[in-house]
Amino acid sequence: DLGIDRPAAVTVAGTPDLPCPGPASHKYTRGMVAIVAGHMAGAARLAAVAALRSGAGYVALYGDGGQGGPDAIVHRPFDGDALSDARIGAILIGPGLGRDAVARDRLAALVAADAHPLVIDGDALHLLDLDAPARRTRPVVLTPHAGEFKALFGTPAGSLLDQARSAAARAGAIVVLKGPTTIVASAAATRVHPGGNPWLSTAGTGDVLAGTIAAQLAHPGADPLAAASAGTWLHARAGQLCGASFVADDLANALTPARAGA
Ligand code: AMP
Ligand code: MG
Repeated sequence: DLGIDRPAAVTVAGTPDLPCPGPASHKYTRGMVAIVAGHMAGAARLAAVAALRSGAGYVALYGDGGQGGPDAIVHRPFDGDALSDARIGAILIGPGLGRDAVARDRLAALVAADAHPLVIDGDALHLLDLDAPARRTRPVVLTPHAGEFKALFGTPAGSLLDQARSAAARAGAIVVLKGPTTIVASAAATRVHPGGNPWLSTAGTGDVLAGTIAAQLAHPGADPLAAASAGTWLHARAGQLCGASFVADDLANALTPARAGA
């Protein structure tokens, strides 16, 4: 119990209704995710595996780090043109990005392009300028933990639910405020995801979440709030399946049975 009054628009998230491929599906109709990283390859690969195992049909990783990881991940150099690929369903930036000038430029380019639904996590949240003018015609999902939330939004008034909702209104985005209970908020509606496995408190699990949400958002016709919520649910379910003392790689792998059981 969060000790918070729940207004009508707040729901406790249940099992999501996840799309399954049909006979005519191909990899692009499943959803294509582009991950824009920097030189820290490990975090970006975790997000890429998570995106593939949680439903994406194609994952392209734009980074400067060492190659490697599952062969299903397509590695590409970053250039602005590549991201104009109309088949991209969602772009994730943050895991493995770093916080240097190159990272800042990549984020600025994506925000300015306003072309694809965007998930912003980790390092990119530290580089994000909420006051920069942005057109914001496409959905944006921010995935801060408590520290990143505070750095971005300060401490808005009210309960955690109120804080998440007012941050969503301020950013013009969906805010996934991560913690033992995770709150998924738009300006209009809020979903509460209780009861994650405390063993999730280990390095890399946030990168897995970001990839999972990006995959749901990339699916053609996805509703952004429902996608963020479905990704949060799948991540928690994978965490339950992992039991105790697991590492983030195990969590990413457990998205396959989590997704199959949804
Ligand atoms: P990050 O801090 O970005 O690595 O993300 C950590 C992930 O683990 C988020 O999805 C959190 O919701 C989750 N998490 C962290 N600590 C806990 C906890 N004590 N109980 C449940 N989930 C947690
Ligand atoms: Mg993180």
